[in-house]
Amino acid sequence: MAVKIAVTGFSGRMGRALAEALALSEKAEISAAIVRPGSSLVGADAGEVSGLGRNGLAIVDCLEKADFDVLIDFTAPQVTVDNAAYCAAHNLPIVIGTTGFDAEDKASVLAQAEKIPLCLASNFSTGVNLCFKLLETAARVMGEEADIEIVEAHHRHKVDAPSGTALSMGEVVADTLGRDLGTVAVYGREGQTGVRDRETIGFATVRGGDVVGEHSVMFLAEGERVEINHRASSRLSFARGAVRAALWLSGGAEGHRAPGHYDMRDVLGLN
Ligand code: NAD
Repeated sequence: MAVKIAVTGFSGRMGRALAEALALSEKAEISAAIVRPGSSLVGADAGEVSGLGRNGLAIVDCLEKADFDVLIDFTAPQVTVDNAAYCAAHNLPIVIGTTGFDAEDKASVLAQAEKIPLCLASNFSTGVNLCFKLLETAARVMGEEADIEIVEAHHRHKVDAPSGTALSMGEVVADTLGRDLGTVAVYGREGQTGVRDRETIGFATVRGGDVVGEHSVMFLAEGERVEINHRASSRLSFARGAVRAALWLSGGAEGHRAPGHYDMRDVLGLN
């Protein structure tokens, strides 16, 4: 029997990609489509709204009206805080793609992992998670002798910067080198900056057009430079990864995975 997945933020960019990924999946099916309260889409046919053909599933405006085994949430920090609490209260696993949490909201979300399996990732694409692994190697081999800079680009509608993925990349590099990202990160530069401190990790952000997501991590040494680049050309890469994570959390016939905080590297067996 297919695993029943609820998608919140259904009318958003990622909501639409998730509808497509679920339609392509043989092991998972969409069982609830949730939009913000007051949306004109409430009651409309979810298949029709996502352009995939009628599927008889009426869009709802809250989790209480949804029947599901796993929730996939790509919305906004405050919405995700509430949804994670709902899932914990009902013993249901949750996959979280939302980015831009402040420390308090992130702690509140992660506290629910004591009660339910929770997979939180700033990027659900397979390629980016492979890049995290490559970054560990690059940092180990070149990190002490290279200046490290991270550049990312996204579409003009993105509301947080730098991207959650860029910050995760910075964390992987900093952790490997025994540095604290909070101390060594430099976000943008302007004016009389002084010479570069080798220990720092620089971030630069580009916003515009319809760029789905691009990340470049540069290890700039004397006489040579290594770049690890990832370019997403479709949101389906994130959506398929999130569906894979939901299936992994649901754990199959024996019931869902043990409560805990997982990420996409756990799902892919890279940790
Ligand atoms: P979006 O603005 O297109 O979609 C967000 C949707 O959430 C909107 O449709 C909004 O109406 C809906 N929403 C708001 N409140 C709601 C509520 N109470 N109930 C149900 N729905 C509600 O944004 P997007 O591009 O789809 O991105 C959403 C989030 O996912 C962002 O934080 C983004 O950074 C993140 N993201 C993560 C990944 C990843 O791989 N982790 C990939 C892409 C985007």
